[in-house]
Amino acid sequence: MAFKGIVGQERILSYLSEALLKNETPHAYLFEGADGLGKKAVAQQLAMGLICTSKIKPCLKCNSCLKVVSGNHSEVKLIESEGSIKIETIRYLQKEIQLKPYEGKKKVFIINQAEKMTQQAQNALLKTLEEPPSYATIILIVNISSSLLPTIVSRCQVIKFRPIEIQKIQDYLIHNKGLSYEESKVIALFSKGIIGNALKILEDESFQEKRQLLVDITKELLRGKTLLALENGSLLTSQKNNIQEFLDLLASWYRDIMIYKETKEYHFIMNYDKIEEINHQASQVNLNKLKDIIYIIEDTKTKLKSNVNFQLNMEVMLLKMQEVISW
Ligand SMILES: [Zn+2]
Repeated sequence: MAFKGIVGQERILSYLSEALLKNETPHAYLFEGADGLGKKAVAQQLAMGLICTSKIKPCLKCNSCLKVVSGNHSEVKLIESEGSIKIETIRYLQKEIQLKPYEGKKKVFIINQAEKMTQQAQNALLKTLEEPPSYATIILIVNISSSLLPTIVSRCQVIKFRPIEIQKIQDYLIHNKGLSYEESKVIALFSKGIIGNALKILEDESFQEKRQLLVDITKELLRGKTLLALENGSLLTSQKNNIQEFLDLLASWYRDIMIYKETKEYHFIMNYDKIEEINHQASQVNLNKLKDIIYIIEDTKTKLKSNVNFQLNMEVMLLKMQEVISW
């Protein structure tokens, strides 16, 4: 297998390698899946594979491959945009695609976050997909294929990227990032099988801080120290920009307690390194209360999306949680 640096996704990689080897690649691919699964990296390596001059493709060493790595290959174009992808961009693609390749035999167009294409842009692209030149390959990358016109989807070979086994992410973190078993396990679990998430958590210096803050808050709520919890609640202001993420962490905490309470198994919980506190809290709160608390957190998440009063929402959430716990 010639694809390198992609964690997991072996099934997809071997399928694409085989297609390259047999020279049986379709004119359009649609890579579908959540962010962080390596879709763009695979698309770039597939582009390399299509223009690579070696026998095992992509070799990642030949002149063509190296040019793609540095973004300098004239026959590989990456289209992406902060805002929407407009019809003008697709018209540019249409003009470019008609010009025969002069460097190599193939031309590859990658459209990243293709759901950003406007309706007009999608309609224009459809025409190209109906009759692409024989030397061209178009790779569309999306989170969900239903965000594109069904007529576009039906003209592409759809490749679905799925989250990978937690174990694979853990192995990667241990062997490539030098993490300990416990550290890697926690991050792998929180990544939900998405390597990009794991790398983001790894870079997030405040990850452990956030988790400590939520443990402090939950302890105080349990002790009936609402005031202290509210004080910490004002500390949540520091989390204002990432509040959805923080509330996800908080919900995961109570979910862990619920799972632990029901199974007495620590293998299924995410906060693997805080098992003692989880065990302690599990002995203090019953299942119905835990369900109510998780509901309160989820409800707050929804309210925060539409309601800008951050501080009030946080206080109401903590008071409601307190009420459930002490009731
Ligand atoms: Zn090569």
